[in-house]
Amino acid sequence: MTANTNGRIVLITGASSGIGAATARRLAADGHHVVLGARRTDRLAALAAEIRAAGGRVDHQELDVTSLESVRGFVEAAHRRHGRIDVLVNNAGVMPLSTLDALRVDEWNQMIDVNLRGVLHGIAAALPLMKARGSGHVVNVASTAGHRVDRTAAVYCATKYAVRALSEGLRQESREIRVTVVSPGFTESELTDRGGDPQVRAAVRAAAEQLAIPASAVADAIGYAITQPGNVDVNEIVVRPTAQG
Ligand code: NDP
Repeated sequence: MTANTNGRIVLITGASSGIGAATARRLAADGHHVVLGARRTDRLAALAAEIRAAGGRVDHQELDVTSLESVRGFVEAAHRRHGRIDVLVNNAGVMPLSTLDALRVDEWNQMIDVNLRGVLHGIAAALPLMKARGSGHVVNVASTAGHRVDRTAAVYCATKYAVRALSEGLRQESREIRVTVVSPGFTESELTDRGGDPQVRAAVRAAAEQLAIPASAVADAIGYAITQPGNVDVNEIVVRPTAQG
């Protein structure tokens, strides 16, 4: 572990697997205190034990980003425990893919609730605390799907384009708070394990198995952004497999 006396208090949503878990490992190894949130608390507890065993500083709490109350509880409890919130990584996301004419409206709403409303809930919970302190950093995990629309991904892309739009708005409104959008391409995770049209899911999984980069590659980008000096705001990073078209 790299000693870092400037370790920050970093909250990570969706830390129970994939990019969130990799980010927790990376940032804890860099000397930051990571606060893990997700619904699968057994996974969070196991990850927290692993990080502690490696000498890292960590706590965790059950979190459902679709509930403003849950997100406020997560952020405010961390603020009470640590006296400040330095970084919020809005990472939780779901990707049940299908064509629009399949009318899987419940899954459209789930993507809006987790991928978009969840990010807004994070901002609503953290922004007042960061503004009161005069500093803070919001990292939103979007996607290359926030840069390009593909068939079967219209709603997913819509949520990720929206995350980029509201990140830019937050950046323009903030003189003290840094805002970073990290847009991964195909990345190893559990994102294609659930939901969506089974045939589409199988095709995307096959592509991911061919192409995907490790989640640690995205974690490294997040680590880079948050360790810049306070007057350096890294606004947008795209990290995709070299072979991704
Ligand atoms: P995973 O499925 O491995 O991780 C998703 C995380 O989101 C899990 O920890 C899950 O935890 C959490 N989550 C889902 N719903 C909720 C909820 N309602 N409340 C709280 N947490 C929730 O996938 P990734 O690591 O790939 O996904 C992380 C982010 O990266 C997402 O925003 C995704 O869109 C984005 N991304 C991923 C890419 C990829 O190829 N993997 C490419 C581009 C972007 P739990 O179920 O325990 O609540």
